[in-house]
Amino acid sequence: PSSSKQRKIAVMGYRSVGKSSLSIQFVEGQFVDSYDPTIENTFTMSTRVNSQDYELKLVDTAGQDEYSIFPLQYTIDVHGYVLVYSVTSTKSFEVVQLIYDKLLDITGKVRRTNKGEQSCFGVPIVLVGNKTDLHMERRISAEEGKKLAQDWNAIFLEASAKQNTSVSDIFHTLLLEIEKADTKSNDK
Ligand code: GDP
Ligand code: MG
Repeated sequence: PSSSKQRKIAVMGYRSVGKSSLSIQFVEGQFVDSYDPTIENTFTMSTRVNSQDYELKLVDTAGQDEYSIFPLQYTIDVHGYVLVYSVTSTKSFEVVQLIYDKLLDITGKVRRTNKGEQSCFGVPIVLVGNKTDLHMERRISAEEGKKLAQDWNAIFLEASAKQNTSVSDIFHTLLLEIEKADTKSNDK
């Protein structure tokens, strides 16, 4: 029996993409329709993936835009990132790329290969296209999201916080990726 591992995950993205809704759906199992968009919250919960117990700190950030300076506190002790856009918002898809660029700049583990600079980011990321239940309002296709995640060497998932589709997958997949990254760095 292994003891519980402490993990910290930050949820980032443009405003109104569903960062809080995804976090609350995962932590509390409910969809909250109107949650103060300015609130930043850290949820603590226990979860179990692959027979490993985790003590999870989930930082639900207040949101970023193209003018945001990347808050340094989101880089300290953070094991993995959930970067969220809404499939209904082109703007949010642009902003998530800007957030990624800033993240890369700061935590900067850019590896040079003979193909030039590769986005070999050291910290695991899950890119999430949320609000898939809003079929008529979709602006970003699954292919576009998938392509972006491939460029980042990240995991891609589409989800609906409202319908509770793939929500736990997001966090469980990220915990598994963190585990993999951990194993790799211990190998060195
Ligand atoms: P945040 O600013 O990124 O934290 O976004 P919120 O979680 O506060 O959500 C913003 C708005 O989008 C709220 O009105 C939510 O009810 C709504 N919302 C969030 N996720 C979904 C979803 O999966 N489907 C739908 N239809 N609405 C959602
Ligand atoms: Mg919020």
